[in-house]
Amino acid sequence: MADLGIPQNTVAVLQKYNFVFQKKYGQNFLIDPHVLEKIVDAAQIAGDDCVLEIGPGIGTMTQYLAERAREVVAVEIDRALIPILQDTLSAYTNVSIINEDIMKVDVDRIVRERNQGRPIKVVANLPYYITTPIVMNLLESRVPLRSVTIMVQKEVADRMQMGPGTKDYGALSLAVQYYAQPEIVARVPSNCFMPRPGVDSAVIRLTIYPEPPVKAEDEKYMFALIRASFNQRRKTLANSLSNGMGIPREQVTAALREMGLSAAIRGEALTLEQFAALSDLLGRGNGIS
Ligand code: SAM
Repeated sequence: MADLGIPQNTVAVLQKYNFVFQKKYGQNFLIDPHVLEKIVDAAQIAGDDCVLEIGPGIGTMTQYLAERAREVVAVEIDRALIPILQDTLSAYTNVSIINEDIMKVDVDRIVRERNQGRPIKVVANLPYYITTPIVMNLLESRVPLRSVTIMVQKEVADRMQMGPGTKDYGALSLAVQYYAQPEIVARVPSNCFMPRPGVDSAVIRLTIYPEPPVKAEDEKYMFALIRASFNQRRKTLANSLSNGMGIPREQVTAALREMGLSAAIRGEALTLEQFAALSDLLGRGNGIS
């Protein structure tokens, strides 16, 4: 099958099958061989890798992945794409296609059955309507993953990568950085897709940590604190946590003082380490752990 990264080849497949794009599934297909190469390079796909691809579309990136990986498992929600994928990927014996919603797939089972439980790599040009739930589901489920290399909306990539004191830093940054080291590896303009999305995109690689870089006594409580801190990001941390979690202001300011921080500090100034420390101090005072 011809290289689908070449726009004319994608058009030919779409015409052959009278394919109608489904907006609700975030279907913007890649039509730029350089970007496709860049994603597969960034994912560092090597001969023994088992790759999970989310949303293969008509199989464009799947072809590039199948050229380099030992095995590719591609999960596509749109039933109309399955016969197309069977056609465009017919030359590859190392690709399996699953017609399912990725949010319902037992990824752990794929890891066990296809890679003897060893960490797999996830690669995807993600549908933008559901980027954050897909990423958080993968990270929080703690399935064995080596890395997650994804095309996302540019602003979402910035939010995942940013550190304290920047406008993009927030609950998503901290959640991602608890599980992985993020690195934006490419910016991708909208003309690399068919149809063109209304936003610019970026490729980000999340290299999964074997262990989180900080240890909170109660991880769930720490993330509840983080969410409450950024729900009202213009407020001081003491106000956000007393409004959002019912923790007395004095208790928050006492904990901040113990950590050597100002009572007027905002959540956006705290590092992940500081949120873990704050969580341990406040959690103990509130009957947690
Ligand atoms: N990988 C292709 C490419 O790069 O050209 C297509 C990428 S397109 C941005 C997103 C793909 O994800 C579409 O094929 C869409 O049907 C599929 N998709 C959307 N929601 C999904 C879900 N919940 N589970 C699995 N696939 C999904």
